[in-house]
Amino acid sequence: MQQKNAIDEVMRFNKKSKIVVLTGAGISSESGIRTFRDSDGLWENHRIDDVATYNAFVTNPAVVWSFYKERWLQSNMVSPNKGHNALVQLENHYQDKFTLVTQNVDGLHSKAGSKNVLEMHGSLHRCYCTKCRAKMAMASVNMDAEIPNCPSCGGKLRPDIVWFGEIPYYLYEIENALKCCDIFILIGSSGMVYPAAGFVMTAKLMGAKTICVNLDKPDNLSFFDEFHQGKSGDILPSLVAGWIG
Ligand SMILES: [Zn+2]
Repeated sequence: MQQKNAIDEVMRFNKKSKIVVLTGAGISSESGIRTFRDSDGLWENHRIDDVATYNAFVTNPAVVWSFYKERWLQSNMVSPNKGHNALVQLENHYQDKFTLVTQNVDGLHSKAGSKNVLEMHGSLHRCYCTKCRAKMAMASVNMDAEIPNCPSCGGKLRPDIVWFGEIPYYLYEIENALKCCDIFILIGSSGMVYPAAGFVMTAKLMGAKTICVNLDKPDNLSFFDEFHQGKSGDILPSLVAGWIG
């Protein structure tokens, strides 16, 4: 408890603290978003390899598009929860010293009002042209087409999702933020799956305080100074209230 109080003091009284938050599927599932891990790597009978790889897209783009259209529609129907809202408060307090990195693609952080969000695995709300690389909002694309085409060049569009085997976005920006952050907070993730495991290690090695908020105890618990067990929607609001004083 003494350690926890000391960290709270730093956060409450030092507005110069730089914060990096990494969120995972847990915070989205509390809003009703389903994930691959909900059922042994299957999502409504789709295997990851059949819908979430570039190879799947090349082999059967109609199946991949059908899957992502459905996920996009689902993401439009769900709302941010109290956990998302608490992170908006944290950002409002720390302003440009706050960086939110998310592995989620549902756009719920932005919907809640978070501004500095790095969507490292892309977004269900965007797609891009495989020919001219133009990016565009899903909402601006004709979804009646089995495989939507680029309005500029006619090329095949693909969801702006970082698929398995592809390189996540913003790795340079994330690395820089981790190296100079004072506090690293992992939310809604077990922390063992790449890249979360690497992020906490980098932050810890560079001297940051490390905090985990998750339903289950992380496998790499030793890398965290604090672990708060529970749903982020239940416990983040009071944690954030304590952190910002
Ligand atoms: Zn194009």
